Amino acid sequence: MRVVAAARLGRLCESLSRGTRLGSGGVIGGRVLLALAPQAPRELAEGREVVLVSGTNGKTTTSTYLAACLRTRGPVDHNADGANTPAGVVRTLAAGSAPVVVLETDEGWLPWTLAQTRARTAVLLNLSRDQLHRHHEVAAVASGWHSALTRLDHAVANCDDPDVVFPALAARRQTWVGVGLRWTQDALVCPRCGRECRRAAQDWGCRCGLRRPTPDWRLEGADLVSDTRRVALHVGLPGRANLANAAMAVAAATSLGADPQAAADALREIVSVAGRYGVLEHAGRRARLVLAKNPAGWVEALGVVCAGTAPLVLAFGSDGVDGRDPSWLYDVPFAAIAGRPVVVTGRRATDMLVRLQMEGLTDVRRAPDVVSALGMLPPGPVDVVANYSAFQDSRRELRHAS
Ligand SMILES: [Zn+2]
Repeated sequence: MRVVAAARLGRLCESLSRGTRLGSGGVIGGRVLLALAPQAPRELAEGREVVLVSGTNGKTTTSTYLAACLRTRGPVDHNADGANTPAGVVRTLAAGSAPVVVLETDEGWLPWTLAQTRARTAVLLNLSRDQLHRHHEVAAVASGWHSALTRLDHAVANCDDPDVVFPALAARRQTWVGVGLRWTQDALVCPRCGRECRRAAQDWGCRCGLRRPTPDWRLEGADLVSDTRRVALHVGLPGRANLANAAMAVAAATSLGADPQAAADALREIVSVAGRYGVLEHAGRRARLVLAKNPAGWVEALGVVCAGTAPLVLAFGSDGVDGRDPSWLYDVPFAAIAGRPVVVTGRRATDMLVRLQMEGLTDVRRAPDVVSALGMLPPGPVDVVANYSAFQDSRRELRHAS
């Protein structure tokens, strides 16, 4: 009764919040619900199959993919708005009654969400540096996961990331998926013993015995392959990282009873997730929005934009959700975009400008906002790469101007 009443009050606060434009309604509703009924997540998850999706990069896309895969079997609730901390999680649990719930989960909140929802399955993607003021060390997050996952039944985990493998081994059973790890600079030290983690091609291992598990599923080109199956992935989103996200989702859905090819076919129509890779038109220019919020994300984003030749707008901020310490910019290999016209913008555009100059890039200018930035570039398609707050700002400005 208390949870039902608190959920109603939460929804009322949401609509009031939206009406007065005071903030993002869903999170406020979730906060009210948690304050009035702290036991709500436990009660609302009772009797439902809850699946958590966590990692530094790809959790919004992978959870969207996984929800689509599992809908081939029946109704699924999902925090599609990306609200992945306790307020967003409880709000999603309260908003629906589907027997299956896919929850994108912030990596720092995975232990809490697991304890509250008693999820039996977690999909674990990767861990790398992000929001340095909040997650000081990747090893600390991996260690927190390791303690929490002792209560997990089944980890569907990327076997190419030692920071994921170590905690996943604490779960009762594992499905290992080999999707690769392009960014390895945060995986040089063994998360178990602190010694060097050696890599040779795909393989990795440490003297303490922690080593790459043999994958049950592996990504081969655009196929997901096991010893007995080959599944063609149909991915509308560009880039290698999204193939990896699709592979993780289809492997997880299969372990939960979905037909692998039907699950893969369900991904065909998804061409934009929360605005990512969406194309907005302004003054005859088509601007494709690409999110990149940490070194690993930038490496993947540079792979996507370097597949084409479009000029670039790089929008950069460092507000709370971005992480207030932007020093990691110096780990991103920006030489890949040398020779291409670039305009930088955003509240920390100067940091980006200095970084690109230090890389030796010469054709770099600065604009006060993304719309002005587009106007400074030659006609034709443009790629706008932005970190989190700058992405939201760019999207809003372009929509407003169109
Ligand atoms: Zn070790």
